Amino acid sequence: MKITVLGCYGPYPPAGQCCSGYLLQDQETAILLDCGNGVLSRLRYYLEPWELSAVIVSHLHADHYGDVAILKYALMLHQQAEPLTVYAPAEPQDIFSSLNYKTFLKAEPVNETTELKIGRMQISFTPAVHSVPSYLITVTAGEKKFVYSGDTEYSPFLAAAVAKADLFLCEANFLEEDLKKGAQNHLSAGQAGQIAREGGVKRLVLTHLFPERDPGLTVREAQKEFPDCELAQPSSVYEL
Ligand SMILES: [Zn+2]
Repeated sequence: MKITVLGCYGPYPPAGQCCSGYLLQDQETAILLDCGNGVLSRLRYYLEPWELSAVIVSHLHADHYGDVAILKYALMLHQQAEPLTVYAPAEPQDIFSSLNYKTFLKAEPVNETTELKIGRMQISFTPAVHSVPSYLITVTAGEKKFVYSGDTEYSPFLAAAVAKADLFLCEANFLEEDLKKGAQNHLSAGQAGQIAREGGVKRLVLTHLFPERDPGLTVREAQKEFPDCELAQPSSVYEL
């Protein structure tokens, strides 16, 4: 499988960039993993929105689903024949319902019991720790395993969810100094590195980068726990 970074900032973007969005592809399947604000524009460098097999949203915060509200116009004006399914947590219910649009978008709920098979990819969901229901998303295809953290606080169970992943794409919105000041709902870069180390992952990529911070601070903090890590960048491609 191939993962292309479309957007890697949160909870809002710097100039000319966008929030969370990752294109997951193999020969027959193209899945959009999160569809934050601005992602649709970058997606079009690679394929058209009506060529997607599915959209999977980790949680219903606008930096992860905001462009679904624009995607619906593209599908409608293209006269897409079949609805595109948007898989997402069912809460908050009003936001979940808003993901449906005429015959063009269909929202399907996911939770920790959901097992999707889309093309050759098997997709499962692990509850994260966040202010709304949010899930780590695990994608396996053959021997390969990819895990995307969505947004989460630290919890000791996260290491098991990412165990032996070939690639762990993990949010690192904070630094340790933010946690000491009481910041909540996200991981520090150090915690992202700790989870990667505890889970024995092969490769760690840090994402959900805070737009006002020197990204060098983020990567250096994570490297103290997991030396072989790097920052997500728009247009980065990872082949597993
Ligand atoms: Zn976020």
